[in-house]
This record gives sequence, structure tokens and C-alpha cells, in this order.
Amino acid sequence: MKFDKATSAPEHHVASSSPAGDVMVRYAHLEGAELLDTMINEAFPGRIAVSSSFGTESAVLLHLVSQVAPETPVLFLNTGLLFAQTEQYQRSLQKQLGLKDVRIIGPDPDHLEQYDPKSKLHKSDTDMCCHLRKVLPLQHALGSFDAWITGRKRFQGSARSELPFIEHDGSHYKINPIANWSPQELKDTFVAHNLPHHPLEEAGYTSLGCYPCTNLPVLGSDARSGRWVDQNKTECGIHNAPWAGDSI
Ligand code: SF4
Repeated sequence: MKFDKATSAPEHHVASSSPAGDVMVRYAHLEGAELLDTMINEAFPGRIAVSSSFGTESAVLLHLVSQVAPETPVLFLNTGLLFAQTEQYQRSLQKQLGLKDVRIIGPDPDHLEQYDPKSKLHKSDTDMCCHLRKVLPLQHALGSFDAWITGRKRFQGSARSELPFIEHDGSHYKINPIANWSPQELKDTFVAHNLPHHPLEEAGYTSLGCYPCTNLPVLGSDARSGRWVDQNKTECGIHNAPWAGDSI
């Protein structure tokens, strides 16, 4: 099986003399709702999407999007191996926030049939599995956009600890409006706007992905410590850049 895995680290710094650098310098003073508003309505009108996992903290960014421009495309990556509660939460949150363009994207059925017909690939090669079920579908969905918005935060640790508000991954701008928000600010936002929580949060989950690769967080560790437990893997690959793994 030939497979090009994405191996490069996120490219956070682009020379300001480049077009990508110009955008980052021009809007460097913005963050939060103001950054979101400017990116959607001024910098990339009609050419920007939000990616959301509809996980435990997703409601915060999606609430901001609903206030700024509810018609913004929201890409929801359904790998086919999500918790049923996540799909249920996606439907109810979309309705409550009035999001007008949630697009459910998923893996190519031909890829699944050829490489993961029994949905067991995650047991032998999680990178390949994530590539088929996450990286390629998102890459395909982002083809018609110049930029995408994520809800990643610095406090989530690992590769996210120095997350900039605007980055460029070689093919797209990535906007991280709430990169510097704290856990307390997220909690306050849930309360202030009466946002619903993911149904699995009360069971102790702090970060949710596919059910085969998601456990309860390790006591005393960061919120994402329940993801890919016992593996040297902290990200699924959609945030690796540039996307070296654009084929199988
Ligand atoms: S998180 Fe696990 S099950 Fe989901 S795509 Fe990645 S390896 Fe596969």
C-alpha cells in the first residue's frame, strides 16, 4: 500500500514580503470576534469556511460565527466512526445557533472499500486511517476556499501551544480567532449564551474524535490526553502543513 504521510510541521511564519505574509501583517492586530468578522466579510468574502468537529468546545466558535455571519459554510467531518452523540449534537447545535450552511463531508467510499473495508484500519495504522477519513475529505472540501477557520486554542498544548491567529499552510490561510482563549473564558461563554454542552461531556470526556481513538482524559494531563492513548500521535493530520499526503 503506497501512502504519502504528511510529515511537515505547521508553518507559522511567512515572510511579510509574500502575499501570505502581507495578510498576516495587515490583520495582525485582530483577534476573537473582530478577527472572525474581518476575515469573513472583508479579507475572504465567499472564500472562507469554518471547520468544526462539533466537539466539547466547538459551540464557542460556532456561536461567534452565528453572530457574525451564520451563512458561512461550516465543514463537519464525519469519518463514519464518530460517536452517535456527536452527530446528534451537530444537528441540535446547528439548529439552535441558526447556522445556515453546515456541510457534512466524509471519506471517499472507494477509498474505504479498497483500504479499510472492515473499518479496522485504525488498529494497525492510525495515520493512514486519519489520512483516508479526515485529511483527504477535508482537503477536497477546502478546494474551493482560500481560507478556513479553526477553533484551536493554545492551552490545548503540544503543537498548539504557540498557535498564531493567522497562519498559512502552503495552500490555505488558517484563521484561529480564539487561539488565546482560556478554559475559563470558554466556560463563561457557554454560560453567558446558554450554549448546550456535548452530551458526552458529563461522562468526563474533554476532547472528542472517533470512538475507537477517544478515551477519557488521563488524570492530571491536558484535555486532549484521551486521544490516541499510548501512541506517539497528538493530531489527526488535518493541521499538518503543507499537506504532503494528498494521495494514496
Ligand atoms: S481518529 Fe482513529 S478512527 Fe478516526 S480517522 Fe483517525 S485513526 Fe481512524
